[in-house]
Amino acid sequence: MAESHSTVGVLALQGDFEKHLQAFAALKVLAREVRAVSDLDGLGRLIVPGGESTTMTLLLVPELRAAIMNFCRAHPVWGTCAGMIMLAKESADPRVKPFGLIDMDLERNGYGRQVHSFEADLRVEPEIGEPSGPLRGVFIRAPRVKGLGAGVRPLVWLGDDAVAVRQGHFLASAFHPELTGDLRLQRYFLAMNP
Ligand code: GLN
Repeated sequence: MAESHSTVGVLALQGDFEKHLQAFAALKVLAREVRAVSDLDGLGRLIVPGGESTTMTLLLVPELRAAIMNFCRAHPVWGTCAGMIMLAKESADPRVKPFGLIDMDLERNGYGRQVHSFEADLRVEPEIGEPSGPLRGVFIRAPRVKGLGAGVRPLVWLGDDAVAVRQGHFLASAFHPELTGDLRLQRYFLAMNP
């Protein structure tokens, strides 16, 4: 496979970036790690993985933060769990400096801490595509959505909680779609255009 504008970059400063790379490999889509500004060259889209948003904030040097902000203007970006927090407009935690892309209020660790990690069957909106059945979601100290701006569309639900949302060419999920074999959200992300 030749590198093309559809290559997926996965921010690899810390967290579970490896599992995202494996999920795209299963789809036969090129994906590679992003650790430095030059790694963004030639990429079509970017994933901000799960991990720890406070640590990610510390590891994002200003040059890389600025280059990612610039990349976000014209490319689809998907944040999972800690990455969802990094995509938010604001963080209620002064230790977390998000990119400010999606208009949503989040509560970090809103489902409880490590002992409260859990799995659940999630309801998907039709636009996620076939099959339409429940999506298995793995939640690990996940952020909880407390409010969504008018321009933000819920795509996946846990009861009454939106757990995956989209605003323009930005996607965010509170759970970890890279940890199950269900690749519907990966396919959805690959079809998103700026
Ligand atoms: N609790 C973490 C945070 O606040 C996110 C956990 C995860 O990404 N699995 O950043």
